[in-house]
Amino acid sequence: MTRLAELVWDDSFTRELPGDEDTANRVRQVHGAAYSRVMPTPTEAPTLVSASTEMLEMLGLDADIGDDEWFVREMTGNSVIAGTDPHAMCYGGHQFGNWAGQLGDGRAITLGEVLTESDGRQTLQLKGAGPTPYSRTADGLAVLRSSIREFLCSEAMHHLGVPTTRALTVALTGDKVMRDMFYDGRPALERGAVVCRVAPSFIRFGNFEIFAARGDIDNLRRLADYTIRTHFPELLDSPAGPVSKDVYVDWLAEVARTTADMIVHWQRVGFVHGVMNTDNMSIHGLTIDYGPYGWLEDYDPGWTPNTTDASMKRYRFGAQPHIASWNLERLANAVYPLVEEVEPLQDALNSYVTRFNERWPQMMADKLGIVDFDPESDQSLIEGLLELLVRAETDMTLFFRGLADVDTASATIADDELVAPLVEAYYVADQFSGDHRANTVAWLRRYRERIAAGGQADPARRRAMNSVNPKFVLRNYLAQLAIDDADQGDFGLTNELLDVLRNPYDEQPEHERFAAKRPDWARTRPGCSMLSCSS
Ligand code: AMP
Ligand code: MG
Repeated sequence: MTRLAELVWDDSFTRELPGDEDTANRVRQVHGAAYSRVMPTPTEAPTLVSASTEMLEMLGLDADIGDDEWFVREMTGNSVIAGTDPHAMCYGGHQFGNWAGQLGDGRAITLGEVLTESDGRQTLQLKGAGPTPYSRTADGLAVLRSSIREFLCSEAMHHLGVPTTRALTVALTGDKVMRDMFYDGRPALERGAVVCRVAPSFIRFGNFEIFAARGDIDNLRRLADYTIRTHFPELLDSPAGPVSKDVYVDWLAEVARTTADMIVHWQRVGFVHGVMNTDNMSIHGLTIDYGPYGWLEDYDPGWTPNTTDASMKRYRFGAQPHIASWNLERLANAVYPLVEEVEPLQDALNSYVTRFNERWPQMMADKLGIVDFDPESDQSLIEGLLELLVRAETDMTLFFRGLADVDTASATIADDELVAPLVEAYYVADQFSGDHRANTVAWLRRYRERIAAGGQADPARRRAMNSVNPKFVLRNYLAQLAIDDADQGDFGLTNELLDVLRNPYDEQPEHERFAAKRPDWARTRPGCSMLSCSS
């Protein structure tokens, strides 16, 4: 069996960037350094909950390595893998629109980088493995419920085709963690857990912001140069030469484009991140830091799952495209000292808008199965639909799956037959009546004409639509059911969901129940309809 220590490890981040000279693990402001070396905290009785088969394979590990006691110890920080250089990164961030100063990896400890055969450099990081110099007032730990949510969702997002950090394992530490889940002064002990997550790097916008905010331009430049040389070498004319101003600008434009792509995917599948602070924005355009995220049930651009954001709704579904742009502006401000010219940075930021405006309408056209999409003439069809969807509680996932089954072939069709594939999508049957039903029928008739004009036959259209409109997403209540079982020591549903969500676009009739809309009991249940940041 291949042990973790036998993989090809690198430590470019700690080798090439300045580290904190103080090696004590106590909370502090860390200046002039990109990271602090820190060891994970041993735990009472580590046990594996689940491992991602695909991630084991990507890293070159055996499928049954989860049975190996050493592996479980390593995945919970109880044994340090030989050849790794554990550390926590220093970063800052804008939280809910305000500069928050130093944040950093308060409960994430990066082990090192594996040079994989298939997927290049992959950084492994333990989340919840104990305090670091960046833990501020918190404990550096994570609970089982939030760890299962991160593990399942990051793998599900990957299979949906959404750029994301990945998860290798989720494991119980055997320790208890105190959490005030509802921030109502009723803390309780919960099971502690650690997720091992994986990404090319975990560098965030905030890693640049902290150096800029402190006027530490030398280290800002070192970080930018390291990032570009290591993760964006295609932007360089010569790998060894200095990084020019143009390259910093090109890099910002690249981050802007990949961020736009990520947001378009979020809007496609109905994902709401919940905490789009700049410290939660990956420079690789990956979905990162799964906290109080949620999935749209009824299509509502004003919805956010995050109770902390309930009044402002800054990070609501419909605001995500704008917020990403605002966050990119913060990154542009941070790298300004390296470029010292506003215009090229502004141009780079404009790549976000250009890319988003190009990709979002195309994504919507794909959801509708329009093959010969014309942004001008088709815009009103798309807008018309989005206006309809908010008028009644309409399950986004079921609606688009149902739309694929709408008959566009028959010359004439009765209203009842036309809407039949969509009826299941409505949460309140009464709401799909009267004017709303009539308007929906009118829109569907326009849609039929449009599809007929495009000349795509229904079976081909259905196949195309079903490849971009998922059947299975990690519905909020499904994650909560898996957590309820896991809290009782039963990980069956966690592993079953992991498996179903591997093929989110396939019908999987044997798993039909996981495609059902939110049951009524889940409408107001915490964890299903709203989440706090407590994790
Ligand atoms: P988040 O909103 O979860 O991305 O976290 C914001 C900041 O708080 C980051 O610096 C985290 O590392 C830190 N943080 C969150 N939870 C904990 C915890 N339990 N212990 C230490 N730091 C934490
Ligand atoms: Mg974070």
